[in-house]
Amino acid sequence: MVPSFKERLQTVNSEYETFENLQTLQVNLGNLCNLQCNHCHVDASSRGTEIMGIDVMDQIAGFLRCHPALTLDITGGCPEMNPNFRYLVEETEGLAARRMLRSNLAIMAEHGWEWLPEFCCNQELIIVGSLPCYLEENVDGQRGNGVYKESIQVLKRLNSIGYGKELELDLVYNPGGDFIPGSQQGLETTYKAELSARHGIVFNHLFTITNAPIGRFREHLETTGTYADYLHMLAGRFNPEAAGNIMCRTLISVDWQGKIYNCDFNQALGMAVIAEDGSEITISELDNAGMSGKQIDLAQHCYCCTAGEGSSCTGALAP
Ligand code: SF4
Ligand code: SF4
Repeated sequence: MVPSFKERLQTVNSEYETFENLQTLQVNLGNLCNLQCNHCHVDASSRGTEIMGIDVMDQIAGFLRCHPALTLDITGGCPEMNPNFRYLVEETEGLAARRMLRSNLAIMAEHGWEWLPEFCCNQELIIVGSLPCYLEENVDGQRGNGVYKESIQVLKRLNSIGYGKELELDLVYNPGGDFIPGSQQGLETTYKAELSARHGIVFNHLFTITNAPIGRFREHLETTGTYADYLHMLAGRFNPEAAGNIMCRTLISVDWQGKIYNCDFNQALGMAVIAEDGSEITISELDNAGMSGKQIDLAQHCYCCTAGEGSSCTGALAP
């Protein structure tokens, strides 16, 4: 039996289970994706039907106008495939301190999407690209045949227009199975050496992210009979230092309909932030000040954020 995550966190510091202050607004544009990775926690695919519309994007821009010092973190699915992606990016120009685009990179190599690198560059978006390994067989095994070659082609294109140099280009590593990442610092050094030697590619930071035991990855764990072992392993590697830095203390996640969550994992599980009257809160109703001190909705999947060096959308929490 794996001990309750919530109780475990309370034993470290009861403040850790409450929201602190908003620094990052993460917006999930929907579950449409050109890939169908086997670790995906949002079950995204080309059959995705949840697509954020312009009305919600207008509400996001309105929120940022009132809270100008935030980071806007754009994710999906494949956020670029949302038909209103350009609209959101253009409407939020100048409204956030930093704007990050989480890209699977491969989309930028596909026919009809070649405009993306220049568009991102002109909009000065930080690109956070998924590349779960510097080896072709590992990337293709996790993301599909041909994805590695496309990703490398795109990274070279991004380097050629200033990404990894004047413009920030970060990469995301996630394990190719039911284990937690090793040292983020060590892996970043290896990635930099390997990508430079093999392809002449440069990038800024590597973020290591632990696979959350939800969505398609949970299905995989259950199919192989390893779900309980994985949860035990995550709990066994609980790191109190990482626990104090869990991203949900400073991040709010918005779904395609404008509903808000403590993080993208809670969003995938349908665990919306609830108001005093029991109703779900939307971005148009979000009272930033009122969030401080509010309880975070924690459950057993949260162990993926505190295992080893910890894990968040910007990588390790206690490297
Ligand atoms: S992990 Fe990312 S790229 Fe892969 S299917 Fe999910 S959303 Fe798409
Ligand atoms: S899964 Fe979400 S709610 Fe749970 S600890 Fe991680 S960031 Fe916080």
